[in-house]
Amino acid sequence: MSDKTERPFLEGWFTRDEAGAALIGTRCTSCGTYYFPRQTRFCRNPVCEGEQFEELALSRHGRLWSYTNACYQPPEPFIAAEPFEPFAIAAVELEAERMIVLGPVVQGVDVDALQVGMPMELVIERLCDTPSERLLSWKWKPVV
Ligand SMILES: [Zn+2]
Repeated sequence: MSDKTERPFLEGWFTRDEAGAALIGTRCTSCGTYYFPRQTRFCRNPVCEGEQFEELALSRHGRLWSYTNACYQPPEPFIAAEPFEPFAIAAVELEAERMIVLGPVVQGVDVDALQVGMPMELVIERLCDTPSERLLSWKWKPVV
């Protein structure tokens, strides 16, 4: 355990309650297209002129669509644990939203344990520590 203050590394991108973790996205009120990261000014759907968006929590579960291994420290503005520990990155398809959401895979799960199509669940986990804080991120975890 750590007595450091915990905070999201990006403010307002995800939420956590008794039911679990969820990403916060937006949905165009005209055409229903979902966005993450949130879109709030204009709809990127080329046949939609919507400019109104509602904020909502996205599905907590999805299916692994693709994945890769991050063996090198990502460039700024991304942050990673020091010393750098390789981790897997998952692209997970949310069925209801019909969208793909990228995120790191939880610690202790490497690419050998991943398989396209497997169910994945969103969790909140430590991304890295600074001298005074523990930064949290959303991550994808295989459902076993
Ligand atoms: Zn739209």
